[in-house]
Amino acid sequence: MPARKPSTNTRPRRPDAADRARHERFMRQALDEARRARHLGEVPVGAVLVQGDDVLATGFNQPIRGLDPTAHAEIVALRQAAHALGNYRLPDTTLYVTLEPCLMCVGALLNARVATLVYGAAEPKFGGVRSLVDASRLATNHRFDVVSGVLEEECRHLVQDFFRFKREET
Ligand code: ZN
Repeated sequence: MPARKPSTNTRPRRPDAADRARHERFMRQALDEARRARHLGEVPVGAVLVQGDDVLATGFNQPIRGLDPTAHAEIVALRQAAHALGNYRLPDTTLYVTLEPCLMCVGALLNARVATLVYGAAEPKFGGVRSLVDASRLATNHRFDVVSGVLEEECRHLVQDFFRFKREET
């Protein structure tokens, strides 16, 4: 079987100036998705899956209303794109997500063969590409590039404010 040489660039990095506008444009769409989650009382995380300049799918975090612990924004977007394309592999795609993905979502990205992950804020407790562990490096058959810190403050404040208001409510 011809092995495709995996990318070695899996360390999170800051985008350079040329990429920044593009990353911010799609991250703003992911932020819109995150706000939809917040509106429904879910932890505000949003995701957008992009191929070239086309948005293939969007998703927001919805485990509570869906009674589905796997219904994270990333998984919702990957499922939607796979259905739309009729293919469970999604090569040459970039997933934008407002928060660093958890271990489950890193596994899903690897299974889907997503090429690049772009995330906004770090997830200190359960982040699966940098904060807790870099699970993307455990797999040997696929690697994805990682870009971190896109609209980081906006992404972080959305989640922080959500939990602050929640604490004040109780
Ligand atoms: Zn997740």
